[in-house]
Amino acid sequence: MKKVAIAFFLMSGILPGNIIKAQQKDSLVIAAIINEGNNNPQLKKLAHELIDGIGPRLVGSPKMQQAHDWAVAKYSSWDIPARNEKWGEWRGWERGITHIDMVAPWVKSLEGTQLSWSPNTGGKSVTAGLIIIPDLKDSIAFAQWLPNVKGKIVMLSMMQPTGRPDYNWKEFGTTASFDKMKQERTAQTDAWRKRISKTGLSNKNLALAIEKAGAVAIAGSNWSAGFGVNKIFGASTTKIPTIDIALEDYGLLYRLVESGADPKISIRADSKETGIVPTNNTVAEMKGNEKKDEYVMLSAHFDSWDGATGATDNGTGTLVMMEAMRILKKIYPNPKRTIIAGHWGSEEQGLNGSRAYVEDHPEIVKNIQALFNQDNGTGRVVNISGAGFLYSYDYLGRWLAKVPETFKEGLETRFPGSPAGGGSDNASFVAAGVPAFSLSSLGWSYGNYTWHTNRDTYDKIVFDDVQNNAILTAILVYQACEDAAKTPRDKIVLPINSRTGEPGKWPEQRSPTRKGGLN
Ligand SMILES: [Zn+2]
Repeated sequence: MKKVAIAFFLMSGILPGNIIKAQQKDSLVIAAIINEGNNNPQLKKLAHELIDGIGPRLVGSPKMQQAHDWAVAKYSSWDIPARNEKWGEWRGWERGITHIDMVAPWVKSLEGTQLSWSPNTGGKSVTAGLIIIPDLKDSIAFAQWLPNVKGKIVMLSMMQPTGRPDYNWKEFGTTASFDKMKQERTAQTDAWRKRISKTGLSNKNLALAIEKAGAVAIAGSNWSAGFGVNKIFGASTTKIPTIDIALEDYGLLYRLVESGADPKISIRADSKETGIVPTNNTVAEMKGNEKKDEYVMLSAHFDSWDGATGATDNGTGTLVMMEAMRILKKIYPNPKRTIIAGHWGSEEQGLNGSRAYVEDHPEIVKNIQALFNQDNGTGRVVNISGAGFLYSYDYLGRWLAKVPETFKEGLETRFPGSPAGGGSDNASFVAAGVPAFSLSSLGWSYGNYTWHTNRDTYDKIVFDDVQNNAILTAILVYQACEDAAKTPRDKIVLPINSRTGEPGKWPEQRSPTRKGGLN
């Protein structure tokens, strides 16, 4: 059947009821969803605009707000009403240039960056020597040593014994050398942890103590166990910059300090504090025509860390939900139930946007038919769990059965599964008893290479897989909208917790942080 004819039937709102049976309507709609998703995908354009055009989306940053505004405009261009819903406030911070150079004993520009929310260098470069935190007996010895940091850049991370990931050692090393490396690395890592803990201070308080003692900066290296990858999180310092330096350059500096070569580096970091700013969720909605007070939700967090551009965490989940919404609007513009897409803010600091939505919209939350969340990278969806809902198999199984084989290649399901206690925004809804499911992706080296790293960039997106997921999501949402029955919310009896011996408990609903980043 031609696309035009399908579109005509659907748009005209004439249910061909007695002519075409419900099943035939299903297969027509599904065919049209697939056709739109495969033959008119907008994913690359959306990805370029969001990930390259706007970039990272750290909570409280101007770029986060820019992304929210972009999403609203994009939905409007598809004739889907959308709005930004304020749920809290955050410390505003804007990343600027970071430039780090070794200036002695020879010159090399270093790969590194300021951590999020790190103080800047006051519009100039700071040049200083480095000092490694020593292995001292206890907190008293540490307090006596602390004045040595004055005027220095303090190195707080261990030097990695190898910059090669384990798979590389496994491929090329002898078994004996690979084993030896791992043993030595484990011993060294344990010793470093003890070295830090003997200061008697938490990581945060250690940074603050160093700052107070007159250091000019703190340098670390949070290697992500792959070639070229470091994880970039937030700083604890309030006056001096905290920077992350790539493994290779950090190792170079560390060895030069240890050998007495007295390296010096210069740091320029130009971030800006922007005061206290609102935090939002972007919510898009297609009103249902028959059961408008029942909801099917698409869910993906919109924020990211800002060491790179948040392409796979969670640009790709965002793209999946936006593209699915676009397809649904075109193919299924008059849904039986109301469809809502939630693009959550501040997932990374504790599921804050979705927790706020659950708290602020009890009338919606109690009538959600199903929610689909995606947040673990660019890969094809290969795992769906029933999230501990007793009858999830009945409806999810039924919906999945309508999905053509090519869109669920390698998909494994687990029913009834167990409730998500955290990890991503579906957990916020599960805690409130909502049948909320994670569309869990194939890895593509997510954990080491892209998740929260400096290499989470456009080029890591596997568009074929994202397209697959957008079509799969659109079909599931369509099925959930059309289902004659409301989904039951009965929960499984959770198994005895082997640690406590107590019966397992369903995760509790928790309140979001509504004022964040303010010490
Ligand atoms: Zn994420």
